[in-house]
Amino acid sequence: MVGAGPGDPGLLTLRAQTLIKECDVLVYDHLANRRLHDWASPDCFLIDVGKSPGRHTVEQAEIGKILVEKAREGLKVVRLKGGDPFVFGRCAEEMLALDEAQISYEVVPGVTAALACAAYAGIPLSHREYGSSICFLTGHEDVAKESLRVDFAKFSEVGGTLCIYMGMSKLEEIVEKLLAGGLDQGRPAAIVSNGTLPIQRKIVAPLGKLVQHVRAENLGAPAIIFVGNSIGLTRSSTWFEQKPFLGRRIALTRNRGQHSKMRTSLERLGAEVLDLPLIEIQPSEDRKLIAEVFAGIATYEWVVFTSANGARFFMEFFFRAYNDIRSFGPMRIACVGESTAEVFKKYKLDVELIAKDSTAESLAKDLVATDSLDSANILVVTGNRNRDILVGLLETVGRAIVDTLPVYQTDFADILEAPDIEKFKKVGSDAIIFTSSSTALSYVEQSEDIKFEKGAKKPIFCSFGSQTSKTLQENDMEVTVKATHPSIDGLIEALLFYFNDSHEA
Ligand code: SAH
Repeated sequence: MVGAGPGDPGLLTLRAQTLIKECDVLVYDHLANRRLHDWASPDCFLIDVGKSPGRHTVEQAEIGKILVEKAREGLKVVRLKGGDPFVFGRCAEEMLALDEAQISYEVVPGVTAALACAAYAGIPLSHREYGSSICFLTGHEDVAKESLRVDFAKFSEVGGTLCIYMGMSKLEEIVEKLLAGGLDQGRPAAIVSNGTLPIQRKIVAPLGKLVQHVRAENLGAPAIIFVGNSIGLTRSSTWFEQKPFLGRRIALTRNRGQHSKMRTSLERLGAEVLDLPLIEIQPSEDRKLIAEVFAGIATYEWVVFTSANGARFFMEFFFRAYNDIRSFGPMRIACVGESTAEVFKKYKLDVELIAKDSTAESLAKDLVATDSLDSANILVVTGNRNRDILVGLLETVGRAIVDTLPVYQTDFADILEAPDIEKFKKVGSDAIIFTSSSTALSYVEQSEDIKFEKGAKKPIFCSFGSQTSKTLQENDMEVTVKATHPSIDGLIEALLFYFNDSHEA
């Protein structure tokens, strides 16, 4: 029974992370952030027991049964529970099922929503002068026994700070009862919805005006309602709320597994990232050619890389053929751009040339300008696309002897299979980032399959480099944001500038 925290994956305990990594079965519901699934092993079995559109929640008893069944199969089961398992989490019922089946378990606490919302929204829950008790209450209307329902009027007398879970659908009634119980209209109050997530929102208002504010700002669940004098000391804007991409949704189109750096950078700045892999990259299967090239590797004067993928796969193949970096020999390395060159840093290999414009043409031009190509053996490491121009120029203008080594294959991925496609169609995004021409072409080819729902935000198109921009423009897709230089930082810089600019509300 693992507390999954309020949303931000950074708020899980180390124990929770370890267990998610090690488990065979992950049982989750909608309150646990889906990003946590990425920690699980690829063959972990995921079971959704939460509400989703068109489907009822799996009954509580059913969840108990699933846990017992899977444990009896000898599998390690993690039951992810939003926030803390013991705070309004119905954990006790699931524990009972396990106890009856004599299955052992441990409970890992989590950061409960009230504490997390308070921290991320700058709401002090206690204060030496204003509040010396903190109550967690539930406003849930489904509590069967009348006697178990929270008597809000009585809690008015308790004073201190009230943190009300599951209260949004009954907000009006709750406020009325608190006022009837003796709290004054001016008592400080606040609501934080979707706390710790990129879509976090907050309202701070006196109790008497809370309902009015919630309606005006259309704030919804999941949310925590805070009432109490110390709430009056709430910060107007916190470190979290000041993140420049907060509230922005950005779609990434690279192949799976390659997003992580860009995703982390965007998320760190507050963005919600949607995964829409539009290409699939597979290592080349032509083992014979690869073996031949590596056998003669010492004969090349230059080895030229047209993409970071090419560089990565090349090094992988290299270490399969040799286990000593000295076998790389004295050949010089040329790369199309910074992120390609980055791959070689890890091996402490110098990159002699990085193309000024980060395009294949510019790479060829810059290489020719070194005056070292005439009759030289050159190895061009590529994928299965966009290599003809480069090779042609090196051969005709540079008079080099060029071998090409395709180390990977790029195919279009089915957009309808993308992890976040449903959300993308439903709510759209502020921006979609194309990191290569192939991601752009894949989007063009499949754009008819993407039917945005009414009200979905149409994304602006962002391009990583000039080749990608060209491809987008040739296909009538207007490039709104272009990376200041073709790197993650270059793209983020351009996006920051765009979003901060007055033309974007
Ligand atoms: N066990 C959970 C609470 C489950 S009850 C915990 O400890 O946090 C579900 C309620 O939790 C929601 O109705 C809402 O009141 C609150 N909640 C959960 N996640 C939240 C979030 N990210 N922001 C605001 N409230 C949240």
